[in-house]
Amino acid sequence: MKIAFIGLGAMGFPMARHLSKQHELVVWNRTREKAERHAREHGTTLANDLAECADAEVIITMLPTSVEVDEIVDKLLPSLRPGTLWIDATSGDPNASKQTAARLGEKGVAFVDAPVTGATVGAENATLTIMIGGDAADFERAREILQLCGKTIIHVGPVGSGHAIKVLTNTIMGATVWITSECLLLAKQYGIDLKTALAVTNAGSGRSNASETLLPMRLLDHKWPLVFKLAHHDKDIRIAASIAHQQHAATPMLALTQHLFTSSLNQLGDGADYIEVAKIVAKMNDTEWE
Ligand code: NDP
Repeated sequence: MKIAFIGLGAMGFPMARHLSKQHELVVWNRTREKAERHAREHGTTLANDLAECADAEVIITMLPTSVEVDEIVDKLLPSLRPGTLWIDATSGDPNASKQTAARLGEKGVAFVDAPVTGATVGAENATLTIMIGGDAADFERAREILQLCGKTIIHVGPVGSGHAIKVLTNTIMGATVWITSECLLLAKQYGIDLKTALAVTNAGSGRSNASETLLPMRLLDHKWPLVFKLAHHDKDIRIAASIAHQQHAATPMLALTQHLFTSSLNQLGDGADYIEVAKIVAKMNDTEWE
């Protein structure tokens, strides 16, 4: 099957590699060198122009936000063929996705929102969890393809629901990273060794992915890799806040989490990784982790 993959960033690059093992992959990236490298290393076809993606049976986007996805939709829309399936793997905005799906639907193009979780390591190892919003038949078409990139593929509901649950789970993660950082800092300042504090946390009810994996790498091993941009995480939490706003919901923890992450992003800048919010927790207390 001819699949066009648009957006070869930290997640898209390895996902497109897995798909190329069973499908004819055409790749396009804003920065052309990445697409050239993909074609060279994985035998995929370099799209010299974005327009060359339009006649694929399936088009996959993996971009920062729904804004960039819509820019690509605008450019390709006139040349899209009825029957095409558009899979948006971006962690996007459910409201935008519904409008995009409607616009594509007028051309006979089906749309599913299919954001992923599992980080870059999950993308590299094809172990992602993929949550899909769309109708049942489109979900089946998407599942057939995406099973090459992920282990767990869940049909969440109609278009938009994949994007909605993605930003909500990322908000849970953000709040967990923040509160775990605060409590570990308090333990450290109390005189408890960080390794001991983490061992106790992980043997008890405070355990989470943050305490088991994300924070030990940074706080014990002093490695602060860039795996998921804080800018992307902040975007997810802001979308979650917009869902709360739309539902007229009282969600003070969510609101606080959004303020903390947006403030951290403003302080740390676009190049920061999401776990660097732990540095802000320390800074708020006029200290550092090391
Ligand atoms: P990256 O920043 O690594 O990659 C973004 C991609 O989008 C690049 O290919 C970039 O092109 C392209 N892009 C950016 N702006 C534009 C534009 N205006 N027009 C066209 N292309 C553009 O992001 P990730 O791969 O980390 O994330 C992609 C999505 O996946 C995000 O929505 C993120 O929230 C989500 N996600 C990320 C995870 C992670 O751990 N990294 C985990 C789960 C989901 P260029 O090469 O030119 O910059």
